[in-house]
Amino acid sequence: MSDTPEPSIFTRIINGEIPSEFVYQDDVVVAIRDINPQAPFHVLIIPREPIINAYDFTEDNAHIGGRMMLAAAKIAEQENIKNGFRLLINNGKDANQEVFHIHMHMLAGENIGPMTIKDKG
Ligand code: 5GP
Repeated sequence: MSDTPEPSIFTRIINGEIPSEFVYQDDVVVAIRDINPQAPFHVLIIPREPIINAYDFTEDNAHIGGRMMLAAAKIAEQENIKNGFRLLINNGKDANQEVFHIHMHMLAGENIGPMTIKDKG
């Protein structure tokens, strides 16, 4: 999984090559609205470091996972999301990961239904 071309679309957004509004940013992560939202509120929390997916976490970069979670908590506060939200990371082929620069989906704004397509039966 380490043969992904870099820079990814998200690296180009982070570097300002592709103009994009940041819903939130700090020294470790940025958050942007998903181009194809699956809920009334759908942002992607993306680390500045181009980790590919969760397979790519090591002892050295694991703190970035924590900072992604912390960013979600801060965004929930900032955006006044009181009724809950879902955090989701697609990792690799069977999860249909499309962009190979890790990103956490944050979905909110209504009851967003069962967790996986299988639950819809
Ligand atoms: P994945 O399936 O990899 O977890 O999700 C990739 C997500 O990135 C998709 O939900 C897709 O809509 C979103 N996306 C892909 N390209 C862009 C882009 O250029 N800008 C934004 N804002 N979102 C994108």
